[in-house]
Amino acid sequence: MKSKIYLSSPHMGGKEHVYVQEAFDTNWVAPLGPNVTGFETAIENYLGERSRVAALSSGTAALHLALILLGVKKDDEVLCQSMTFSASANPIVYQGATPIFVDSEKKTWNICPETLEEAIKDRLEKGKKPKAIIAVHLYGMPYKVDELRAISKKYEIPIIEDSAEALGSHYKEQKCGTFGDISILSFNGNKIITTSGGGALVTKSQALKQKAIFLATQARDEAPHYQHSEIGYNYRLSNISAGIGKGQMEVLDQRVAERRKNHQFYIEAFSNVKGVSVFSEPSPDYFSNHWLTCILIDSKLASFTPTELRLALEIENIESRPLWKPMHMQPVFKNAPFYGKNRVSESLFLQGLCLPSGSNLTTEDLQRINMVIQQFA
Ligand SMILES: *Cc1c(COP(=O)(O)O)cnc(C)c1O
Repeated sequence: MKSKIYLSSPHMGGKEHVYVQEAFDTNWVAPLGPNVTGFETAIENYLGERSRVAALSSGTAALHLALILLGVKKDDEVLCQSMTFSASANPIVYQGATPIFVDSEKKTWNICPETLEEAIKDRLEKGKKPKAIIAVHLYGMPYKVDELRAISKKYEIPIIEDSAEALGSHYKEQKCGTFGDISILSFNGNKIITTSGGGALVTKSQALKQKAIFLATQARDEAPHYQHSEIGYNYRLSNISAGIGKGQMEVLDQRVAERRKNHQFYIEAFSNVKGVSVFSEPSPDYFSNHWLTCILIDSKLASFTPTELRLALEIENIESRPLWKPMHMQPVFKNAPFYGKNRVSESLFLQGLCLPSGSNLTTEDLQRINMVIQQFA
């Protein structure tokens, strides 16, 4: 059997184990230490825009804290992009609040501004003002930043920017991870850079960063004994993991360039395959890190289905995957309201496929993938 080609696997830069070794040598084997602060500073410098970063145990933890910091409580409503990974929506339920799902638009595959506004108007008419909007940069593609900002401002509803898949992407030269009232990043093993597991909360406010760290470290009041006036969480990032993160930040720009090269490879590979479009930036304002390269297969034009391509790749031990199944189609969220009469996310889900996109794909890997693609030309 040929070796497996993964959708997206970790890709070390070389310095990670040096920082991890430092943690051992200095006995900072704990969820705090110089690597944690060093990693936070590296992200702050990378993002710019006076970002303040709290390193956490996961992107999901960051989303949960973002909701808490914005005051989301039991029976509140939170608007959320339907087409996303479940981790975008689950923390709403952790808070006892209700997700209100909103459909995508075709250009960026992200939350549709028009549908979002319809949803807000309808919720207001029903007597409840949503507490936050969770918008996602899917597969690294920035959402419609200007349109979303305008809606957020008009209705005074803050945005939680889920930038878990979009570190290294930008919109009009400003980096993803800096557009939300609160933003989040993920460093899971499958993301563009990894700490094995980890995440971060990004804000412009030093006080909010401190509050996030306070909540992430069990909400201890200042006292010699353990005293608590609030419910806390154990969400801080380990100093070991942060060592990996510090090394990964040094190669982030390279990783973006490599993923974008894969995207270019797929554009060429599919250029002679009928009915396939490779998901790409709708205009020069958008710059995607192309975390995953995805395609749409038009059933009217193509001679094959996404499943047929996926199975053909699988025979060659090459991993591919359908797009995120929208949250309003998930059994666990079947009772949550959904806005989206155009059913864009459903048709994307039915037509789409994510292809191997790791920054560590070799020329031989790409050749193996291309061999399968050319079966469909
Ligand atoms: C990965 C991911 C998350 C969650 O991040 P974890 O670090 O795995 O908890 C949230 N949202 C999106 C869109 C993601 O892809």
